[in-house]
Amino acid sequence: EFGHADSLAALRAEIAAAPAFIDAAPLIDGLAVKGRSRDVLSPIDGRKVGSIVECDEANVTAMMAAASAGFASWNATSVDVRAAALERAADLIEDNRGRLTALLQSEGGKTIDDCMSEVREAADFCRYYAARALNDFAPKTLPGPTGESNQLRHCGRGVFVCISPWNFPLAIFIGQIAAALVAGNSVVAKPAEQTPLIAFETVKLLHGAGVPATALHLAPGDGKVGAWLTGHAAVAGVAFTGSTEVARLINRALAAKDGPIVPLIAETGGINAMIVDATALPEQVTDDVVMSAFRSAGQRCSALRLLCVQDDVADKILTMIEGAVRELRIGDPRDLATHVGPVIDKEAKDKLDRWIDTMASHDALRFRGDAGPAGGTFVAPAMIELERASDLKEEVFGPVLHVVRWRANELDTLLSDIAGNGYGLTLGIHSRIDAMIDRIAARLANGNVYVNRNMIGAVVGSQPFGGNGLSGTGPKAGGPNYLSRFALEQVLTVNIAASGGNA
Ligand code: NAD
Repeated sequence: EFGHADSLAALRAEIAAAPAFIDAAPLIDGLAVKGRSRDVLSPIDGRKVGSIVECDEANVTAMMAAASAGFASWNATSVDVRAAALERAADLIEDNRGRLTALLQSEGGKTIDDCMSEVREAADFCRYYAARALNDFAPKTLPGPTGESNQLRHCGRGVFVCISPWNFPLAIFIGQIAAALVAGNSVVAKPAEQTPLIAFETVKLLHGAGVPATALHLAPGDGKVGAWLTGHAAVAGVAFTGSTEVARLINRALAAKDGPIVPLIAETGGINAMIVDATALPEQVTDDVVMSAFRSAGQRCSALRLLCVQDDVADKILTMIEGAVRELRIGDPRDLATHVGPVIDKEAKDKLDRWIDTMASHDALRFRGDAGPAGGTFVAPAMIELERASDLKEEVFGPVLHVVRWRANELDTLLSDIAGNGYGLTLGIHSRIDAMIDRIAARLANGNVYVNRNMIGAVVGSQPFGGNGLSGTGPKAGGPNYLSRFALEQVLTVNIAASGGNA
């Protein structure tokens, strides 16, 4: 739909009509908290695109009290009412695609392609969880002995805290909230500190779709705000997407609390590998590597970090990849010709540049591309050659591809090295031998495995997404089991004879 020239022109007109500046603040019962604000700067050129008032500890206390008070009436609504609100939210996302795209670009630095797929995914999450909830949360009669009836019912848990990252500030932010709300929970949403404006607009959009302001509250701020929320006595569940390190902090905070055991649904990072053998198609590999490692400036949790290529074909394939990366246009993501936009902020840029410099000082840098325009937080795409897969010990979250070569008799060692990092998010396999594909997929317990294609892809409902090990707890987002941990189950067992016979 967006690909059509007319609708692209319409979208660009909608983007141009969007506000250039947004003042955002915490929302408690729909009311904006007043206070000192800070500027929100665009990663494209450093210009001010909005202001944000962040939560202090007293705001968090007040918000948790408001969310606790708002729980009972929202939980008492029928699942049909809650699902209908998500359906309306999906419609509103589509109606407001220009405003949302403008924000994804100005605040998040995203290319138009990435914005279009994120807007689509946000609407898909709302519609998918609405449809799933109607199925999953409808009371179910269970088989049982004659003379009694058994029914499985669901209700919300209480206040769900949803903590999200900056790299999908619309789709992941709304996906978590939609799941928690449709299960009957009230929600306190904590967006990443880098992307508060789109969060503010999204919460207002959900209120406009019929989610009561008493059931959905917004808590902008940094990790301190997240820690106050997850340490609060009233939290009944946490949905978190972000780094493994922060997931551990939250896990500890929840475990240290008295009272009920609080579930944590965590989707975290990965050191994602692609294994390429000598039978793979070089052109296909090249396209898929460039797409997986460099598009979105490498700022996807699914992005390829470690390319493992069989040494018979390594020189040829690496030369082809290098040529393709040289052709990528790094620049303003609002320009349709741009392939790679900025990274999210100066801190991320400095960290990535330092990493590439360190690798260069160890003679491991194979290639460093165009540095992009001045003024924004652009990082030159880079390729780094390592001796062994186990040499890469952390998730390098940007347009940096690490490469190792392997010989046919070293495959087991390679697979052990990859498994040894403990992560299990995405995995790519390029081979035309079925037995090879099966052997690799069986050895590595990654959550999402992509064969002879790129590693970008988590279509809601068809490619449920999420990792194992250090990469997450499951259940997979956008999949048939995701809603289960957001709800409480109750089984009603009735002795029919003693209940008037009509239970
Ligand atoms: P991050 O862990 O730094 O921050 C995520 C969120 O946690 C932010 O809202 C942050 O303010 C909050 N936070 C920080 N400290 C906290 C604390 N002590 N208690 C509670 N909350 C706290 O991650 P990021 O830099 O925003 O995002 C990038 C990371 O997210 C990468 O590791 C990436 O792989 C991961 N990610 C994973 C998935 C997935 O589906 N598995 C999707 C997107 C991003």
